[in-house]
Amino acid sequence: MKKDNQLEELLRIPVHMKLHYRFPAGTHYTRFFREMKDSGKIMGVKCTQCGRVLVPPRPVCGECFVKTGDWVPVGPKGTVKAYTSIYIKFIDGSTGKPRPSPYGSGLIQLDGAFSTINHILEEGDPEKLYIGMRVEAVLKEKREGNIGDILFFKTIT
Ligand SMILES: [Zn+2]
Repeated sequence: MKKDNQLEELLRIPVHMKLHYRFPAGTHYTRFFREMKDSGKIMGVKCTQCGRVLVPPRPVCGECFVKTGDWVPVGPKGTVKAYTSIYIKFIDGSTGKPRPSPYGSGLIQLDGAFSTINHILEEGDPEKLYIGMRVEAVLKEKREGNIGDILFFKTIT
């Protein structure tokens, strides 16, 4: 007989779902990805009040709560503002292959932008990563119109 303080093992019920879905990227992400795909440019939007350039672009400045305005090219060079080395292996969704580890992930402030984007860094060695390191976006030759069009950020001097 089971005592009151013993935990009962929970049942696991496997459910296999096959889901196909699409979601709208919205006006700003659509233009951001389309521009990167077609011209290889990384674009941001400028706040009409504070003048900050936001990347990824968004329709409203989170600081001023006003609509953003002009589109401006940024990067492709930038500065690492934060980073981590990742040791957990996983299947890279863009290639279908295991990503070698460790690899770096960082918040990159592209030249001309106020905000940062999170992306993969070429450098994964934590001894070689540092805040302030200069990097440059490496784009796919055949781009598809998504964030994977930036393969990674390579280290530059
Ligand atoms: Zn603003």
